[in-house]
Amino acid sequence: MTRLWIKNPLGVFTADDTPDAPDASGGLVVENAVITEVLARGAEPSAPVEEVFDASQHVLTPGLINTHHHFYQTLTRAWGPVADAELFPWLTGLYPVWARLTPRALELATTVALAELLLSGCTTAADHHYVFPPGLDEAIDIQVSAVRRLGLRATLTRGSMTLGQDDGGLPPQSVVQPLDTILEDSARLVRTYHETGPGAQVQIALAPCSPFSVTTDAMRESARLATELDVRLHTHLAETLDEEDFCRERFGMRTVDYLESVGWLTDRTWLGHGIHFDDDEISRLGEAGTAVAHCPTSNMRLASGIARVLELEDAGVPVGLGVDGSASNDASTMVAEVRQALYLQRLRYGASVPVHRALAWGTRGSARVLGRDDVGVLAVGNQADLALWRLDELRFSGSHDPVAALVLCAADRADRAMVGGQWRVVDGRIPDLDVDALVAEHSAAARGLISG
Ligand SMILES: [Zn+2]
Repeated sequence: MTRLWIKNPLGVFTADDTPDAPDASGGLVVENAVITEVLARGAEPSAPVEEVFDASQHVLTPGLINTHHHFYQTLTRAWGPVADAELFPWLTGLYPVWARLTPRALELATTVALAELLLSGCTTAADHHYVFPPGLDEAIDIQVSAVRRLGLRATLTRGSMTLGQDDGGLPPQSVVQPLDTILEDSARLVRTYHETGPGAQVQIALAPCSPFSVTTDAMRESARLATELDVRLHTHLAETLDEEDFCRERFGMRTVDYLESVGWLTDRTWLGHGIHFDDDEISRLGEAGTAVAHCPTSNMRLASGIARVLELEDAGVPVGLGVDGSASNDASTMVAEVRQALYLQRLRYGASVPVHRALAWGTRGSARVLGRDDVGVLAVGNQADLALWRLDELRFSGSHDPVAALVLCAADRADRAMVGGQWRVVDGRIPDLDVDALVAEHSAAARGLISG
């Protein structure tokens, strides 16, 4: 058993919103995988420690949590033909490229995205993988291996598309799958990889892609199977007005009515984007406890709209942050997403939206979105998942409040990140990962994918 004192941080944000949240300015004691003490300034650990990490040059935060991504899209970042398009033309331009995805390209893409996330202070990530062209049946297995190699936590979702162009959907027929295949594979993945309880590293969720790429029976059957297996449900919803029109025309109802009609309006569900809701829909989502992954950069890049985050939270909707796929962000820089969320929500609600509230979306809020109560808050009994940030770069020079500086001065790299008591980022690097070699191979795979 080892005891580590992360001592006297320069600044600290614990994300603990309980009324008797302790002062943490003396740091934390980590014992094996778990936080066992939160110390006030001047306090000493209650028992001897084997190791001390002097954090006097670091800001301490919970590890950030990303609730929506498409790792494979790192292969199609900043692709000229869709650089200036909205969601539907952006998708129809990219589907034929994504249909050529190979196992090796997905492995590289996943590793790149996970490395970017880790280096930007993220310790838990969700991915929504819904592209299963022939030959890529083991996509999620490949992702599980990459997650275990890099050592962060992940909720990997078995995505799906069943509604192709021939039947009035958006994706080409070559990337849709029969429902039976999807359900069988989903059950296999949950049985093989899904961990439960505090400290789970890999979790599996079921994730039909969106109303315009999935049939109604696939939505219903996925909800039934998720309930049977007790795993979470994820999809894109209310991202654009095009999608709202699609739902009205095809199903004769708005998005939340559709969600309810297929058995998804529950606290098992989290939604990517969740922008275009009316007042009544917001209160229904809140009553149900359905969660939202807010993806501000993607929403700006594709001009999709501004989510009503404060009203969603006030109605009881758990809200977290997502960088979204790398063809619509096009970065997986998690800490930057906190800043984007803060500023986009200030455009909607005014400059009084607090910096700390945005940090809470990317930590405590995101944990709730993924159904976790063991991460996202620095508190006794929680997993030791944390990030440490230095402020000695040019961009922070002259800053005063160390926690606010992370967000307002645009931090983009953590100096250290710990997952379950293990250092996964040290001195701004991931031990044992050859980034130059990864970039070279991933870039070659990206060029290969585009050229076909
Ligand atoms: Zn997405």
